[in-house]
Amino acid sequence: AKKLAKAAKVDVDVEEIPSPVPYAELAKVFEAIEATTKRLEIQAILTKLIRRVVKYCPHELHSIIYLASNSIAPAYDCVELGIGDSILEGAVAQAYGANPKTVKEKYQTEGDLGTVAQSCKSNQRTLGFAMMKPKPLTVGNILDVFRKIAAISGSKSKNHKIDLIKGLLVKVQNPAETKYIIRGLQGKLRIGLAESTVLISLAHAVSFTIPATVADVVLKDDDDEEEEENAGLGKNEKTFQDKSAAVEKRLEAAVNIVKKVYSEVPSYDALLDAALKFPLIHLGENCPFRPGIPVFPMLAKPTKSIQEVLKRLDGLEFTCEFKYDGERAQIHKTSDGELKVFSRNLLTTTGKYTEVADYVQAACTDAVESFVMDAEVVAINRDTGRLLPFQVLSTRKKKEDGTPEVPVIVQGFDLMFLNGKSLMDTPLRARRALLKKHFPEVEGKFQYAKSLDFVENGDTIDLEKFLDASVKGQCEGLMVKTMDDIYEPSRRSLNWLKLKKDYLDGLGDSFDLVPLGAYHGKGKRTGVYGAYLLACYDEDAEEFQSVCKIGTGFSDEDLKTLSASLNEHKLETKSSQYNVDEGLDCDVWFDAVQVWEIKAADLSKSSLHRGAIGKTGEAGRGIGLRFPRFERIRDDKKPEDATSSDQVLDIYYNQDTVKGHDDGGGDDG
Ligand code: ATP
Repeated sequence: AKKLAKAAKVDVDVEEIPSPVPYAELAKVFEAIEATTKRLEIQAILTKLIRRVVKYCPHELHSIIYLASNSIAPAYDCVELGIGDSILEGAVAQAYGANPKTVKEKYQTEGDLGTVAQSCKSNQRTLGFAMMKPKPLTVGNILDVFRKIAAISGSKSKNHKIDLIKGLLVKVQNPAETKYIIRGLQGKLRIGLAESTVLISLAHAVSFTIPATVADVVLKDDDDEEEEENAGLGKNEKTFQDKSAAVEKRLEAAVNIVKKVYSEVPSYDALLDAALKFPLIHLGENCPFRPGIPVFPMLAKPTKSIQEVLKRLDGLEFTCEFKYDGERAQIHKTSDGELKVFSRNLLTTTGKYTEVADYVQAACTDAVESFVMDAEVVAINRDTGRLLPFQVLSTRKKKEDGTPEVPVIVQGFDLMFLNGKSLMDTPLRARRALLKKHFPEVEGKFQYAKSLDFVENGDTIDLEKFLDASVKGQCEGLMVKTMDDIYEPSRRSLNWLKLKKDYLDGLGDSFDLVPLGAYHGKGKRTGVYGAYLLACYDEDAEEFQSVCKIGTGFSDEDLKTLSASLNEHKLETKSSQYNVDEGLDCDVWFDAVQVWEIKAADLSKSSLHRGAIGKTGEAGRGIGLRFPRFERIRDDKKPEDATSSDQVLDIYYNQDTVKGHDDGGGDDG
C-alpha cells in the first residue's frame, strides 16, 4: 500500500494562489474560458485553477466549484436566486452612479446585462485621491452573498437584495468581476462551461492521487479489448512503458470515478469533502449513495419492434413491465425517518405530491428503516380505478381544503437502497424480490408495476398480448429489463429497453429538443413566432446542434405562451454553443432554457442540419427530423438532458429504410 501511495504522489508544479482566493482570479479564469470554444482548452484552464486551489487552499475548493458551475446549492435543494432584471439594473445604477433608465435601455439593445454593468464600472468616475481602495472580493464573499440573497423573502426583499448586490459591486476592482457577478446572479455565466466539464476538470486536477497501477484496474472493466491487446506484458511493465499512455489512463480512470460517484451522490459538498480527504480511488466508499440525496435515474434505450427487443436480449432472462404514463418519482426515507420525493431531474417534489411518500410509508413493513425506491406517480380515477394519462396529472392543483384534485397512485418498480445498504450492485431479480417482500401493495395507492417475466424463446405471442394489455390499461407500452443486471444511475442502458406502442411503426421514440431561436410569424401568426429552430445536445462537443425547423402541432395558446416565456431569454447574438448553419439564421435567438417533446415522421441526412455532425460518416452532413410536430414542454428535463446526438444517430440507423443500405441520400429540408 505504501508503494502505491508513493507512486500516486505526483508533484504537481503549479503557480501559487493567494488564500482566501480573490474573486478576480476566478473572473480571470472565466474570461479565458469565454475567449475559447475549444472544450479541451476550457478543461485545461479550469483544471489548472483547481490544482492551484487544491494545493494551496483546499478549503476554498467548494466555493470555486459552486461558482464555476453557477450554482449555490445542489439542484435537489431547489434553492433559487430569484433575481429579476429590475433588481440587477437598480443595483448596477446605484453602485456606479449610472442612470437606471440608461442601464435598462442599454440592456435592451445589447442583450447582456453583464457587459452593460461591466462598461458602467469601467466608465465610473472615481475621485482617485479621496477613495480608499476596498479589500478585494473573495470567492467566499461572493458565494456567501449569493446564498444570503437566495434566502431573502418578504415584502421588503427587493431593497434588501439591491443593497447586498450593490455591496458587492462597489468593492469590485476589475470590471470583469462585475460582468460575472451580474451574469452569475442572472443564473447564466454564458462562458460555455457545462457541468460535465467542471466534473472532468475536477477529476483531472485530483487524478494524481490515483496510482497508475490502480488506474489500470479501474479501467479494466470498461476496456476489455485493450486489456487483451496488452496481454503478455506484466502490469507494471505495461503501465510505465509509455508514460503518456499511463497519464492518459490515470486521467480517464479519474473521470470515471468522479462521474460515477457524482451520478450516485450529486452533491458537490459531499463529493468534495471526500475527494479532499481520501485518495480518489477510495472516493466511492467515502462518498456513498445514501437516502436524502437523489440519484440520477437509470434510463432506457428506445426500440421499435418486438423483434428488435428479442434480438437485443438474445437468450437473456428478462422481464417486461407496464410503462406507466405519469411522472417519475424517487422516494427516500432516511435513517432518521424523514421522507422525501424527487423528480426525474432530481428536484424535490415532496411538497407537490404530499400523499406519495405517505402511501409508500404506509405500505412498508416494520422492518424497513431506510430506503430509496424508484416509481412512477400516475393519475387515477378513484371511482373506476382506471389510470389516467399524463395530461390529467399535469393539471393537478391542490384544492383549498388540502385534498389534491387529481388523486394519484404510486407504481413502484425498483428498490435501490434498503436499511443502510445500497442495492445498486444487486441484480434486478433480487432488488425486485426485496421490494415485494418489504412493501406489500395497498390497493389503489401503492402497487407494483405490472410485470411478466420471460426467458427468450423466440415466441412473441405473450409479449404482444402483454403490450396490448398495457395500452388498454392507459400505459404507453412496455419497459423491458434484464433480470441479472445492476442499477446504472444516469446510464441509458441496453439493460432497460422501452417499447412504446404508438411508435411501433415509426421511430421508436419521440425527441426532447431545445428551442434555440425563432422566426417571426406572418398572417394569423403575426405577433407571435411562426416557427422555431430546435436542437439536440452533443455531449462530446458540449453544443446544441440544430435538427429541425418546426411550425406544426402548436395550439394558438401554445404559440402565445411559448413566445412569452422564451422572450424572457432572448440573446443578443447566437450562442457559441449553438451549431447552426448560416442558412437557418433565426430572427431571434434564445438561451437554451426549455425542452420540448417532438414527434417526427423520420430522420434523414441533411446538409443544412447539424445533428450528430462529424459522426454520420459524411463530412459536413448532419441528421435532421422530417415533419416534426410539437407535443408538449418537458418541465422535468434540463437542456443538457435533451435527446443526445448519439441517440439521434442510433434512431437514424435503426430506421427500416436506412438499415443496411445507407446510401447517403436524404433531404435537405
Ligand atoms: P428518457 O428518460 O429515456 O429520456 P423520457 O424521460 O422521455 O425518456 P420515456 O421515454 O417516457 O421518458 O421513458 C422513460 C420513463 O418511463 C421513466 O423515466 C419513467 O418515468 C417512466 N416509467 C413508467 N413505467 C416505468 C417502469 N415500469 N420502469 C421504468 N420507468 C418507467
